[in-house]
Amino acid sequence: MSPSDPASRIAELTQLLNYHAHRYYVLDSPEVSDAQYDSWYRELRDLEEQYPELARPDSPTQRVGAPPAEAFGTVVHGVPMLSLDNAFNEAELREFDARVRRFLDLDPSADLPYVCELKIDGLAISLTYEAGVLARGATRGDGTTGEDITQNLRTIRSLPLGLQGSPPARVEVRGEAFLSKTEFERVNRERDEAGEPLFANPRNAAAGSVRQLDSSITARRKLDAYFYGTGLLEGQALTTHAEELDYLRSLGLRVNTTSRLVSSVEGALEYVHEWAERRHDLPYETDGVVVKLNSFAQQRTVGATSHGPRWAIAYKFPAERQETVIEDIIVQVGRTGALTPVARMTPVFIDGSTVSSATLHNQDEIDRKDVRIGDRVVIQKAGDIIPEVVEVLKDGRVGDPPRFRLPATCPVCGTPVVRETGEVVTRCPNPSCPAQIKNTIRHFASRGAMDIEGLGPAITDQLVDRGLVRDVSDLYALTKEQIAALDRMADKSADNLIGAIAASKSRPLDRLLFGLGIRLVGATVAQAIAQAFGSLDAIRSATVEALSGTEGIGPKIADSLVAYMASPDAERVIARLKAAGVDPQIERAAASDDSLANMIFVFTGALRTMTRDEAEALVRSRGGKATGSVSKKTTYVVAGEEAGSKLTKAQELGVTVLSEADFREMVGLSS
Ligand code: NAD
Repeated sequence: MSPSDPASRIAELTQLLNYHAHRYYVLDSPEVSDAQYDSWYRELRDLEEQYPELARPDSPTQRVGAPPAEAFGTVVHGVPMLSLDNAFNEAELREFDARVRRFLDLDPSADLPYVCELKIDGLAISLTYEAGVLARGATRGDGTTGEDITQNLRTIRSLPLGLQGSPPARVEVRGEAFLSKTEFERVNRERDEAGEPLFANPRNAAAGSVRQLDSSITARRKLDAYFYGTGLLEGQALTTHAEELDYLRSLGLRVNTTSRLVSSVEGALEYVHEWAERRHDLPYETDGVVVKLNSFAQQRTVGATSHGPRWAIAYKFPAERQETVIEDIIVQVGRTGALTPVARMTPVFIDGSTVSSATLHNQDEIDRKDVRIGDRVVIQKAGDIIPEVVEVLKDGRVGDPPRFRLPATCPVCGTPVVRETGEVVTRCPNPSCPAQIKNTIRHFASRGAMDIEGLGPAITDQLVDRGLVRDVSDLYALTKEQIAALDRMADKSADNLIGAIAASKSRPLDRLLFGLGIRLVGATVAQAIAQAFGSLDAIRSATVEALSGTEGIGPKIADSLVAYMASPDAERVIARLKAAGVDPQIERAAASDDSLANMIFVFTGALRTMTRDEAEALVRSRGGKATGSVSKKTTYVVAGEEAGSKLTKAQELGVTVLSEADFREMVGLSS
């Protein structure tokens, strides 16, 4: 940057930050680390302080988050949902305390109570309860207007649809929706298996799950939530934040038990140091500590800016970083043909494990970071889990090594690669590419799928390289002689492998379906489909409509499955699998498919165990109809909590009213 030109730097930073905020908040797919974003943000804020006349109206320092995505309905927040200022070290936390004291005109030696809370790495949600019943759930959005995600939030089990105790007529509570570390890993594993891009960290995974147009996808991710504040609150005389937390608890909302009331900034620092260590033992990711003034009267005196309250601050834990050297960049070809550049690095120990490779994602990512072989780089674990290259230390670069480019042809089969317009992924389009076949076979034989013991990568490679196996159905045609002729294959091992392949014929349907490696069909989806349809034949003849009527299956998954089943390759593979005796069936209860034929259902009120969309999908999957209004033709009205005018209408017309439990029983679910 040229220091003589702050105007163009301010313009550049504003544009850069707005671009990355959009990727982060709207697309849930950041391209740069939080640390990088934060450092640009600070640079911009400092420049704006120095040259206030140059600050632009669209500056991210004047705003929060990003406007709601168009696909969702919007919710206007009664009280704005703000961001928080950050402190990155002890001195900055003390500075915050000193600033608050100045606002309050308070002596440095006087007590100043704060509440310390863990800052969970998720996304802020707002829930409005009317007469104790969940009426609306929203994201923060740009702080003023958020997205209406009520249906999705209803799928979070730990989130009460009705409040306990004596809730006021109307209360808006705020908290954080998040995924545990295990669930984050599971979701990413499933995405990996389904050939989808991985979430960079638990925060993006939570945001990506909550901001789904298809609430069945949200339902399959085990989201959790903790609550830490109120927006609008009627008829309550609370005077401190500590009381507010207790009050939230009394309403039956989950409040993190790790919060602590301290009498001064010293206590807050103790809390910070303690959790900087202990946080690795928590089942969820935290990226810092939020320190809030306890007294509401003091909070009011100190006030807020358009970005965040002045009475609270987020102390961010430093992400552990290490320097290492990129020894090589190799290109892997995945099951779906995607070419992934992977950095091989000199091994370093970081945050509890040794790291020696990191994905560089795609060509755009390599260009943006300008990573070259031989470079010294800084790495960190994103969300403390997946290693990523944060930046290249260009000062250490010797000479001008060539820029890295993905090859123009597949490194495995030599087919020219393709990159569709608007896509970041470069693919080998050849379905017979040995890399794709090998990865497909590995996936098929893996433990969660057909679990074929002894069919490891070395044997798979030989089988494919020798032309003995071109797709998964060929496995069942292998002879003992063919296997015994492979390198380093003893007679006994050949017998064992033949036995293991034969044994895999009796794996259940869901494992087979998962093993086929269909895009978007991970283990959980495969289970739901197997359960609903019972056989490969039934799945093959299922329509998109029938599939998406299944609990947990959205239209995208249904499309992908139908497209796969319609392909000539799938037809051949499935026919040969069946001929080899791989055709598992599930015995299903007689009451299914059309058990609700000719019946018309109307749902009213809040259901406790499922969303309305899910309930309606269940009705459709059993041949019934679900409509929005009650008439004489309605067979049943299912009344949830706080059912409204539809219930009254049903009673007037003499339509039979079912409880949620009655309905669950009718469709064969345990109540
Ligand atoms: P923030 O995450 O720094 O802090 C505010 C948020 O903290 C609240 O909205 C709430 O969701 C959360 N929170 C968690 N526990 C809380 C508690 N106990 N009390 C109150 N709030 C709690 O602010 P932000 O505006 O959501 O995000 C800004 C951060 O996002 C930046 O610091 C940056 O690291 C990251 N970001 C990264 C990129 C990128 O491209 N990598 C882009 C934009 C933003």
